[in-house]
Amino acid sequence: MKIVVLSGKGGTGKTTISTNLAVNIKNAVLIDTDVEEPNSHVFLNPKIEDTIPVTKDYPDVDMDKCILCGKCGDFCRYNAILPARNKVLIFKEMCHDCGGCELVCPAHAIKYIKREIGNIYSGVSKYGVKMKYGDLNVGEVSGVKIIEELKELVKDEEMVIIDAPPGTSCSTVAAATGVDYAIVVSEPTPFGVSDMKMVVEMLRNMNIPFGVVVNKAGLGDNEIYEYCDEENIEILQEVPFDKEIAKLYASGNILSYELKVYKEKIETILKKIK
Ligand code: SF4
Ligand code: SF4
Repeated sequence: MKIVVLSGKGGTGKTTISTNLAVNIKNAVLIDTDVEEPNSHVFLNPKIEDTIPVTKDYPDVDMDKCILCGKCGDFCRYNAILPARNKVLIFKEMCHDCGGCELVCPAHAIKYIKREIGNIYSGVSKYGVKMKYGDLNVGEVSGVKIIEELKELVKDEEMVIIDAPPGTSCSTVAAATGVDYAIVVSEPTPFGVSDMKMVVEMLRNMNIPFGVVVNKAGLGDNEIYEYCDEENIEILQEVPFDKEIAKLYASGNILSYELKVYKEKIETILKKIK
């Protein structure tokens, strides 16, 4: 089973839920696909056993062959290749590695060059959980390739928890594609609910079953409960806004090892999903 943990915005407690789920499921593997800002490893503290570089191709134009016809630029949806007056400009960070410009080039002037965009780290946490996380190099535009490779590495695992990037970007869609179930973590504040609605719409478009965890319950108002009721969305659990939890989190603790009540809440989420 593959479960993705999502949130409409950062800082809602998505990683807390992901890591606590992983330590409470036998033989679970956690992958942190929030490659722009991975932080599950801060809590799970894995001993890194393997580092895999992730590469992407970008076009290189042989100007001796190029006839400056402009077809590559017309084809590219990402403005990554731009035929100018005397040469073809390449913006390699913008390239999505689709291979299309080579196909449309009538002069066979385009070849691809590999470049590293980040790394995947694999290890075993001090809590016994296997984990992998991706790390996108600074300045890179898209981490989708790293996310796809992370998911490929765990495709045969029985139980995978996926800590997704926040929001509804291409990276979030890549993290959620093909999962069996999604947990949406949200704060009960107007901003939290507004961002959560976009995630709900995304999951419905992707036909992924999901439930909501209300984190920091008691902090905002009732809008989240009214919305979930109107939309027939199951609330899997509520975690109260609590100074003790905030302190333990800030010190990098796994909450379900420190607080019995938190462990029970995580177990209830798992039971409901099953
Ligand atoms: S499609 Fe090929 S020939 Fe035409 S501008 Fe691009 S690189 Fe040059
Ligand atoms: S490979 Fe695709 S995304 Fe990259 S420059 Fe060519 S057409 Fe654009």
